[in-house]
Amino acid sequence: MSSKLIALLLPALLLGPAALVQAHPAHQHDKAPKAEQHNHDHDHKHDHDHKHAHDHDHDDMTQLGAHVHGAATLTLVLEGNELQLALQSAAYNIVGFEHAPSNNEQRQEIALALDNLAQATWLTLSRDAHCEVQSADANTDLTEPGYTGHGDFYANISLLCQNPARLQQLELGLFSLTPALEKVEVQWVINGRQGAATATLNNNSIRF
Ligand SMILES: [Zn+2]
Repeated sequence: MSSKLIALLLPALLLGPAALVQAHPAHQHDKAPKAEQHNHDHDHKHDHDHKHAHDHDHDDMTQLGAHVHGAATLTLVLEGNELQLALQSAAYNIVGFEHAPSNNEQRQEIALALDNLAQATWLTLSRDAHCEVQSADANTDLTEPGYTGHGDFYANISLLCQNPARLQQLELGLFSLTPALEKVEVQWVINGRQGAATATLNNNSIRF
């Protein structure tokens, strides 16, 4: 439950600074006419509404980006020695179906997938960083009774890195575990510095 929340919150965290960058020039623009003329108050109000609409667009994009067949998102946040990874993938990529299991075979497939995701063996970090898994868990919408929608799998991994300055690379072994997965959109925040890249089967290393 809480891990699902982290998976949902992390993209929002990552979008946060980007939204600020956009909001800043708009704010400056608002200020200039207001200081010169009073009758621009109406425009100012309009700008405000417009900005509000933009925020909603961002929310929608995050939602859409979160569930794409063939694609998964992985966020990585390093703060000091603590590294948090959150993976979210359409269930289609992981088990090939997106509804609650209707037989034992499907129940076993889900259990196996959750096991694999929670073992964190699908990612390899720079060896010199000496990161050790502190906790890892995985869950899925598909285990909710009667689930019929486009369900996701989530994995949350917490690591402690002895030498975080050496954390320069991430290698994803996820593709060989999940044949339907084509790409992983990776976003990272490493001690305040952020970036993004796409990993694929043939290009599964990300450099920060
Ligand atoms: Zn779907």
